[in-house]
Amino acid sequence: LKSNNNENKEIKNIIAVASCKGGVGKSTIALNVACELAKKYKVGLLDLDIYGPSLPTMIGNLSQPQFKDNKLIPIEKYGIKFMSFGFINNENSPTIWRGPMVARMTKQFFDNVSWGELDYLIIDLPPGTGDAQLTLAQSSKLSGSIIISTPQDIALIDARKGINMFHKVGVPVLGIVENMSYFICETCNTRHEIFSNGGAKKEASKFNTPFLGEIPLDKNLRIHSDEGQPVCITEPDSSISKIYLSIAENINTNSK
Ligand code: ADP
Repeated sequence: LKSNNNENKEIKNIIAVASCKGGVGKSTIALNVACELAKKYKVGLLDLDIYGPSLPTMIGNLSQPQFKDNKLIPIEKYGIKFMSFGFINNENSPTIWRGPMVARMTKQFFDNVSWGELDYLIIDLPPGTGDAQLTLAQSSKLSGSIIISTPQDIALIDARKGINMFHKVGVPVLGIVENMSYFICETCNTRHEIFSNGGAKKEASKFNTPFLGEIPLDKNLRIHSDEGQPVCITEPDSSISKIYLSIAENINTNSK
């Protein structure tokens, strides 16, 4: 897989992580998959979730990026180069973005950031399949995308819209991940399927798209995220980190 029209020759693969609803764990997956890829490759993570950038909290970074030779220097942590709108505008005021502004801002984040050489640039897209997302998908010169969904029917209807959006703009869908697939109770060790289970897998097979894995609801994962320390760094051998690793390996295989 080669990037569509990617003018930035230093970046080999640009992969979007998308969800059609908010709060399904898209940013958490983008970050942990980036951490796994970064154990072997040069990786950047660009948080374009302009409506609610969560990256500053998830990596515990409150400092602003420096400027050098008219370019923003990415924040480096956990072996990854990070850039987020949230590093620059960390006020609590909401931002209203219209299509042309989104396109301009995206271009800035590509052209005016010293990414250097990267094997992977992971892009955390804002949730939804509206004008802003379409503009981002078109202007980000993506080589592929992955879609995050929770298992219940209402989430899957939106995941379908996401697949169709990427097909429309000619971006290959590398696969679907089901997040919050199940919960194992610490007390009784029973598996509970709070939001149902297996829906994303069925949807993937309907669309002839790879299914990349299911991630359980996990308290530790949430705690590490809130503390600014990705679980793949703090607990690399945990079962949940192994799931992120297998998703990262799948992306790597499919983007070769
Ligand atoms: P999105 O990017 O889709 O809005 P986030 O990645 O910001 O979602 O996740 C929303 C919240 O859910 C965060 O507090 C995150 O820590 C938590 N979360 C995400 N995935 C899981 C999971 N599998 N188990 C427990 N908490 C999760």
